[in-house]
Amino acid sequence: MVFGDGDGQVFGRFTASLDVIGHELAHGVTEHTAGLLYRNQSGALNESLSDVFGSLVKQRSLGQSADQADWLIGAELLVGAYSGQALRSMKAPGTAYDNDALGKDPQPATMADYVDTDQDHGEVHINSGIPNRAFYLAAVAIGGNAWEAPGRIWYAALTGPDIAADCDFATFAGLTLAAATQLYGADSPEAQAVTAAWTQVGVLAAANSAGDGAGPADGSGSPAPTGESVVAVTSSGGFAGQTVSRTVSLSQLPAPDESAWRDVLGADKLQELHELAALSAPQPDRYCYGVACDRPVIDVSIPEQHLPHHLRSLFERTLRRG
Ligand SMILES: [Zn+2]
Repeated sequence: MVFGDGDGQVFGRFTASLDVIGHELAHGVTEHTAGLLYRNQSGALNESLSDVFGSLVKQRSLGQSADQADWLIGAELLVGAYSGQALRSMKAPGTAYDNDALGKDPQPATMADYVDTDQDHGEVHINSGIPNRAFYLAAVAIGGNAWEAPGRIWYAALTGPDIAADCDFATFAGLTLAAATQLYGADSPEAQAVTAAWTQVGVLAAANSAGDGAGPADGSGSPAPTGESVVAVTSSGGFAGQTVSRTVSLSQLPAPDESAWRDVLGADKLQELHELAALSAPQPDRYCYGVACDRPVIDVSIPEQHLPHHLRSLFERTLRRG
């Protein structure tokens, strides 16, 4: 696991929050059990399960019941003027932060606000707000300690024999209900709370309305054609799920970078970007770089672990220009 030190301006060290450490460890559990694919709904579910078990680690450590817990993720990460804010709220997705450095928390709380773009592997750190809130709602309805019945139900669904790597929200909702029924009975308060929670966030009612397989929706990576080469670079992901984009004409760049881009986008090199993009599956909480250009036409997304150093440096310099 790799934890950043933060920049000291907005973020302190990422080991400051126990739930963040639990979150990363839970990615290991998911990888070696359900193996949920890190994109679209199965990716958001992968993220949500890490928030669920990360928060349970914190709640257990503090001895807090479901109604005593703050249900925040990363509440200890933000420093200075930003302290008191967090990265995510399982109780009220979309309210964890609102400031000039990070903008406003974009997490949806229900399926009606599901975000469908190709950033961050299909917004896995944003759409996780929906199953996060379902777990919160189930936990407070069941009452007591969330790491007991609610945690057992979610863990049974994650590690049971019926979960597939491309499991979507609605299928996972069904698996939690099956686990609650098996553990506590079909008419139990636990099973009723699980059904009510998934219904309240619109997953059981809106099973077929959004999500996997929809592909890129907003075309955000494609700059409008102009008289010369324009390249759009995007960095997305990381634990915070932030996206940074910049679109520049190659001729606006300093000469060495302009020449480096012309080399990268040259006819004999273009295949290299496609090959990097086609390498193995994304890894949780790492960055992903998007490169889109109108001439030559290319629109690829490359996980950071596959990027040679010189390319990542070029992408970062271009992103941070101006
Ligand atoms: Zn994660």
